[in-house]
Amino acid sequence: MGIIERYREFLPVTDKTPVITLEEGSTPLIKADPLSDIVGKGYRVWLKFEGLNPTGSFKDRGMTVAVSKAVEEGSKAVVCASTGNTSASAAAYSARAGIKCVVIIPDGAIALGKLAQALIHGAKVIAVRGNFDQALLIVREMSEKYPITLVNSVNPYRIDGQKTGSFEICDILGKAPEYHSLPVGNAGNITAYWKGYKEYRERGKSRSLPVMMGFQAAGSAPIVEKRIIKKPETIATAIKIGNPASWKTAEEARDQSGGIIDKVTDDEILEAYKFLADRVGVFAEPASAASVAGIIRKAREGYFPANSDPDNKKDIVCVLTGHGLKDPDRAIKCLETPVAVDPDLKEIIKKAGL
Ligand SMILES: *Cc1c(COP(=O)(O)O)cnc(C)c1O
Repeated sequence: MGIIERYREFLPVTDKTPVITLEEGSTPLIKADPLSDIVGKGYRVWLKFEGLNPTGSFKDRGMTVAVSKAVEEGSKAVVCASTGNTSASAAAYSARAGIKCVVIIPDGAIALGKLAQALIHGAKVIAVRGNFDQALLIVREMSEKYPITLVNSVNPYRIDGQKTGSFEICDILGKAPEYHSLPVGNAGNITAYWKGYKEYRERGKSRSLPVMMGFQAAGSAPIVEKRIIKKPETIATAIKIGNPASWKTAEEARDQSGGIIDKVTDDEILEAYKFLADRVGVFAEPASAASVAGIIRKAREGYFPANSDPDNKKDIVCVLTGHGLKDPDRAIKCLETPVAVDPDLKEIIKKAGL
């Protein structure tokens, strides 16, 4: 069941809305003991693995609602600027709906898997010599002047779809977690999760709210540094954004929840990226690992108060926003690639270190 069917009563849809779905959502919440050990006794760390959505990222939750509403309103085409995953998702849902999709990407700055997805789903892909922030300005103007629907997260239907991630977490845990960590790029997702937690509590589905913890990459941390970053830099391309569209609502999520928005270095991101893959068994893309890198850093700084009550463990949920297979180059680049040997058992046993 897709998120529109599952959470219809919380979404801006009616019986007349055509539901364009790829059965997104219902992603697993995976317990990560090696991370709980780092944070310390009395804490349980969970990974909401959004890489298991149909196109491999959380963007599908927003896109099913945005494209369904676009079709309901008679739109024949959608457009987005993208660091990769939005374009992959927009392309797939447009293909599903039988409408046109135009995506504008920063030239050379998107991961291979994401580009492949946009192309194979039949989107018109236009690379611009510029960064994401410049691409977003262009698509905003395009959607004002031409009959084409903007499906970036400035489209409120995107936020409404994405808030269902919080519902699923509460449904699985039977309550809201004490802490919720996620990477912050254009800041739509932190806005969406916070909205979701609040709505679930208002409707009596959960009783508390989490402390929101957002993490930007050190080379593109406009919210942390309180200034627009003209030339954002980071290996985590999905959060390489210097002027987030949802800047204000991200700050509201932080402040209303008593949380933080902080930054982590590319080295910390890569360390968490490898740790997730080789210690926890989950392969997420680099940007996703920022949520985990942030938790590790905060644990080291003593941010989480000691909790000695073993019957009352505190839950920390980290959202792993996208799948590691999106960016295979990065995985190969940060490890040694195998050198071929002869098909000889003795030599292979030696190499295997058995
Ligand atoms: C889009 C995206 C982000 C950033 O989300 P925002 O809503 O732009 O803050 C983080 N990680 C991945 C994998 C993404 O695709």
